[in-house]
Amino acid sequence: MSTPLPPLPSDADLRRLVQFSSNDGRIWLAGQRMLLLHAAALGSLRRELMENIGHEKTRRLLMRTGYSAGESDAALARKVRSDAPMFSMFSVGPQLHMLEGAVQVTPLEFEADMSRNLFKGYFRWDHSWEVETHVRDFGPQSQPACWMLLGYATGYTSAFFGRRILFKETQCEACGHSHCLIEGRFREEWPDGEEMEADYRPDSMLIELQNLQKQVEVMRENQPPVDDIGPLLGRSKSFVSAVDLLRKAAGTQVTVLLTGETGVGKERFARALHALSDRASYPFVAINCAALPPDLIESELFGAEKGAYTGSSAARPGRFERADGGTLMLDELGELPLPVQSKLLRVLQDGVVERLGGTTPRRVNVRVVAATNVDLAAAVAQGKFRQDLLYRLNVYPIRVPSLRERTDDIETLAQHMLQRFSERHNKSMAGFSDRALEALRNHAWPGNVRELENLIERGVILTGPGEWVDVERLFPTLPGTAASATVSKSGRLAAGHSGQGQALLNEMMERKLSINAMEQLLIQEAVDRSSGNISAAARLLGLTRPQLSYRLNKLSDDNA
Ligand SMILES: [Zn+2]
Repeated sequence: MSTPLPPLPSDADLRRLVQFSSNDGRIWLAGQRMLLLHAAALGSLRRELMENIGHEKTRRLLMRTGYSAGESDAALARKVRSDAPMFSMFSVGPQLHMLEGAVQVTPLEFEADMSRNLFKGYFRWDHSWEVETHVRDFGPQSQPACWMLLGYATGYTSAFFGRRILFKETQCEACGHSHCLIEGRFREEWPDGEEMEADYRPDSMLIELQNLQKQVEVMRENQPPVDDIGPLLGRSKSFVSAVDLLRKAAGTQVTVLLTGETGVGKERFARALHALSDRASYPFVAINCAALPPDLIESELFGAEKGAYTGSSAARPGRFERADGGTLMLDELGELPLPVQSKLLRVLQDGVVERLGGTTPRRVNVRVVAATNVDLAAAVAQGKFRQDLLYRLNVYPIRVPSLRERTDDIETLAQHMLQRFSERHNKSMAGFSDRALEALRNHAWPGNVRELENLIERGVILTGPGEWVDVERLFPTLPGTAASATVSKSGRLAAGHSGQGQALLNEMMERKLSINAMEQLLIQEAVDRSSGNISAAARLLGLTRPQLSYRLNKLSDDNA
């Protein structure tokens, strides 16, 4: 039998989470931006919805709105009262609901033990803001009217326990009772659980259909190029014009030169170009000219006959031959040694490759996409790059913009990556906190999209399931760990040398770790964190995959 409930704990800890930042027009509840809204304004929105989309759709819409508010608060509960007994921890929801001005909550009965598959909750509601506004606008009701409140209770409790727990309003003040009562149970315990749950699914009705239809039309006209990772996402002007250029080049055989800072995603552009072209069913082959030792590049590119050099025990085709019919990407082209440049020029002119140590010319049909983050014209001036080769490659240059030039795209990219990494690490997050998003928008991104990717993956790894990805999870090495300390009033991240960075340096010096040992530790850590996925590990380290493979080979050779 249920024991009497203890009184609700003090809500002083929750009040402390509310920060009025009136100078810059913001209110925070922990990391989430809040609004102090007139109940009457929300009431008039509700009235308009009722008139435009009808009672049922309005009810469900508001239930879902409440649901997502409840979900947000649940992530908070586990954080602020992490050490408290279950009932106190759970009370964060009802207490925030009161603090937020929605309703007065009195717990009547509460039993929860997920290990025993037990949940039972009865709560009394007084002074519901929804009853007040609904009855004023629509008079006494025959059905309960506390829709947002109910959605909140359901969203909060489901997210809190990680189980689907549905609340039902068993009596409502709007129907003439003295107060409202709600009851919560596992979905499977409600005879009409299926139906109740359907209220939380997005409406598949007329409005949605119309919206979808519009979206489909827009997408058809403006479908982003896709590579094997997904679409090239972005709407900012500089990005869209680069994508336009790419699209126009796709149908031709023109040699494309991709320029742009390191990490902007040149390889993804190259892959998308390949996927859009009529070569898509043939191989896409990439080679990173910076990741291979100079004496290996030539045989990698053009292949080698048996015995062409010491240790070449079998003939092997080069990347040109392997890309036959398809696309060959030459990444970090500026690093190509001068002798290889002349040979490359000949291949581009004649369409014929000769393997090292061989005499048979082999005709190849390859579209070359070159990429570089250095100024090739300057390299020509310095005598490091052949002018005739530059002319040959620079037929159709596309500059991929840096992330700084497309800050409007950061959130879209971040959300997309969050989803991708959540799937990869099999972890579901509540999303980014508003402060985290703001910090992402204001960061300088010297490492561009790759840096963003690294940060998000690290954030996913460091954030617990169901929690919000917050600033300190994304930028853990910045000074201070509290969100308020890392983001200044203007929303900029405090930069500079961090205390933690200094501590790391001290430790390295004290432990007399060599650079090689550090490198090995770092690489091992990155590989472990990525569960052995070399590409992901490389991203964590800010390296390309070939660069990491090269280092891994070197490590295993050293250890052999
Ligand atoms: Zn009610």
